Amino acid sequence: MNKLVLDVQGFTIENNKFIPKELAAYDGTKICHYIFRPPFDIQHLPPDLCKQANWLIHNHHCICWNEGYTPIYKFADIVKNLTGKVDNVYVKGKEKSEYIRKYSLKPVLEFEDKPALQKGQPECFYHLKSQCICALSNVFYLYNNFIMIE
Ligand SMILES: [Zn+2]
Repeated sequence: MNKLVLDVQGFTIENNKFIPKELAAYDGTKICHYIFRPPFDIQHLPPDLCKQANWLIHNHHCICWNEGYTPIYKFADIVKNLTGKVDNVYVKGKEKSEYIRKYSLKPVLEFEDKPALQKGQPECFYHLKSQCICALSNVFYLYNNFIMIE
């Protein structure tokens, strides 16, 4: 049975809309990793959300708002393409699982939110010099500790 662990990090804005910034997935042998271009200038966020986004950028994501090459409209296609090739998809956290379910072609199983994941390896180049946690290290950790030993 093919199992894919997927992690997404991003920003929640008005009306609980989620803007993905980093996406990583790992199935035990293959990995993928994307950083998405912002959908609009950060100045267009209301002041409180702009403040929140800046806090996340500096303390949590360590990826600037303007960073990234992949157009955000490709997100749905990328997730469909990835999930179409496996039997089950695993995501940590209730909100992220619900978000991925909208795009996944296969059942999304949920790891509990707690405990939070720690910084680990491997990481993408955005996270090398920081305390921030990379989505890549999250999917490796989850796969190696929960999927492989099942
Ligand atoms: Zn990263």
